[in-house]
Amino acid sequence: QGSGVANPAIWPERHYPVPVSAADEAKIADLLRRMTLEEKIGQLVQADLCCVTPADVKTYNLGSVLNGGNSGPYGNDLAPAADWLKLADEFYAASIDTSDGGVGIPVVWGTDAVHGHSNIIGATLFPHNIGLGAMRDPELIERIGAVTATEIRVTGQEWTFAPTVAVPQDFRWGRAYEGYSSNPELVASYTGAMVRGLQGPPDGARILPRGKVIASTKHFLGDGGTANGVDQGDAQISEEELRDIHGAPYGPAIEEGVGTVMASFSSWQGVKMTGNQSLLTGVLKDRMNFGGFVVSDWNAHGQVEGCTNASCPQALLAGIDLYMAPDTWKPIYESLLAQAKAGQIPMSRIDDAVTRLLRVKLRLGLFETGKPSSRDLSGHYELLGSAEHRAVAREAVRKSLVLLKNQGVLPLKPGGRLLVAGDGADDIARQSGGWTLTWQGTGIDNSHFPGATSLWAGLREAVTSAGGSAELSPGGSFTTKPDAAIVIFGEKPYAEFQGDRASLQLDPELTAPFETMRKLKAQGIPVVAVMITGRPLYVNPALNLADAFVVTWLPGTEGGGLADVLVGKPDGTPRFDFQGKLPADWPRTANMADGVLHPFGFGLNYASPRAAWTPLAEDAGNAAAGDARTFLASGVPASSWSLHIVDPSLPGSQTRITTFPAEALGGRAKVSIEEGLVQEGGRRFRISGGTSAVSLGTFDPIDISRETNGDVMLLVTLKMLKAPQQAGFAMISGTDTLV
Ligand code: BGC
Repeated sequence: QGSGVANPAIWPERHYPVPVSAADEAKIADLLRRMTLEEKIGQLVQADLCCVTPADVKTYNLGSVLNGGNSGPYGNDLAPAADWLKLADEFYAASIDTSDGGVGIPVVWGTDAVHGHSNIIGATLFPHNIGLGAMRDPELIERIGAVTATEIRVTGQEWTFAPTVAVPQDFRWGRAYEGYSSNPELVASYTGAMVRGLQGPPDGARILPRGKVIASTKHFLGDGGTANGVDQGDAQISEEELRDIHGAPYGPAIEEGVGTVMASFSSWQGVKMTGNQSLLTGVLKDRMNFGGFVVSDWNAHGQVEGCTNASCPQALLAGIDLYMAPDTWKPIYESLLAQAKAGQIPMSRIDDAVTRLLRVKLRLGLFETGKPSSRDLSGHYELLGSAEHRAVAREAVRKSLVLLKNQGVLPLKPGGRLLVAGDGADDIARQSGGWTLTWQGTGIDNSHFPGATSLWAGLREAVTSAGGSAELSPGGSFTTKPDAAIVIFGEKPYAEFQGDRASLQLDPELTAPFETMRKLKAQGIPVVAVMITGRPLYVNPALNLADAFVVTWLPGTEGGGLADVLVGKPDGTPRFDFQGKLPADWPRTANMADGVLHPFGFGLNYASPRAAWTPLAEDAGNAAAGDARTFLASGVPASSWSLHIVDPSLPGSQTRITTFPAEALGGRAKVSIEEGLVQEGGRRFRISGGTSAVSLGTFDPIDISRETNGDVMLLVTLKMLKAPQQAGFAMISGTDTLV
């Protein structure tokens, strides 16, 4: 355990290739001379659509807006694309309005277009990064970036918070699927390509080429290396490991001229990244010569030691240039202004941050291209989900499939009778994962995906167009006995810490399709298992049951790519072969410490020799208990997770804090969430009803959305439905942290 202070001298030097013309330098110098302190401070602040109006942008000269999580135009994340463009125009017009004096710096709008323009109805959604990692195809990555940039431009945004270049080392992490791979070389080989696809080549052109947007590599640094895969946790690793594993993708990003870097919520050696000057300034800006700006994550400044959501000069001093202060932009603006006036922040640091922001804005051409709706590609809604774009995504789906088993049933002959079963068969939201129209990717159905193809729809099309028949039956019943069945199952959407798990086991409530496989097999029907998942998981029972097993990751809107590979030609030969390789080790049990079933790089194809199947041990291990012990022993830091439980049966405001000792719980407890708010590391969420399994100290409420109004409140109302039987279960009063 070190001190969290990096030594920049051991990091590789890098070259930032974006030219800054003398004319730009002169323009920036002129602007800096004319801007008041208030205007400069405003530039350093980014507000979320939830909580800001165009009038605020004008009054406070805010540098940027974003739509995070569930926020969209006018609070409606499912607003039509045209509303996004209209709102972009309003923010832009407000930002350049100089009627009350001031220089009028154009605002920049950042969006989480993390697998395509993923907040927009009708957009082309690509496989999440973990699936792209299976493809081993940097050239296709660049084309995906280009399509994404085009679709973003249609609705008037200029900047995406992508790519995530995390190198996940523990797949219990709820964000593991946002990373391409556990392998740093693979992630590094994709990063430059994705940045180039989004931004265009860095050399020569001062202004981004037509149809390009600014990228943001995130989350700097070590987001994928936190202990026990805890989201926003602490990476307790050496500086060499931080550099060689998690730092690997940043070199290529910088050499492609990435415009922005987002600092991580997580800590390294106990120090929050958002406040780590040695890494943000010493390594990233000075040693690696990163010339763009650093944006903080969603209220992450509030987690820096000594800071609150309302005040954190430490972040600016450490090297943050733009505060992502979604609902806290006003107090942050006011406190920064007061701190600058009081001399607590040197003017040189403020001017440097503003200069970095202005350089990116100049590079975007914001001073020249006029309002969003008058720019190239704006309003060309026919480009959203165009046939050409969808073809790129379908190619990615095809290439990302990983074949773990094939006892001869694949490829399917198209002329026969096919049964498609499993709860994931016809569910485009399910196959798209988190960060899809809403933050968690929940609350949406196939009707929200015009033009998209579910896995079932793609299979039906492939089979029926060749004269065969296809029947959809989630439960596996059928009207005519099929020649083969495909059973589609797997994870449900999640994002960020809501996806953290105690073990690498598919949630037991999602394994019902295994029974379907068993029943079909008992009737002599060959079964192909298709798994929708954001991570490798222990699923040995399904691997044993099925005659073939395909991992489809989180393929997005173009489910037809599955059928391209699974359904062959009438003569029995394949149309497309498998080319996906595992982007990370596949576990033998639910506990990675028990070893690997298939290593990184494994993947069969139609040419693979076939051997008799040796049944896998169907023993998930004692990972759940083991992991929970680690979880409890590791003491998830109070700063990253605190759970306050208010028991309504207790008098007054008495608060009970519950701990879940693993041995005592014997696995799981059922709780029902009544309603309330939970604050997790400075972020607040409203919880509305539902039942959820709380497993060994992890907390998995089913319906959470960002709470944006009101004062600080840390309430979760939970009702125990089934108290654990074992002795030793503890309800502890009087402390205020879980664990
Ligand atoms: C996530 C970022 C994301 C930001 C804006 C944060 O919670 O960590 O990855 O870009 O929200 O939505």
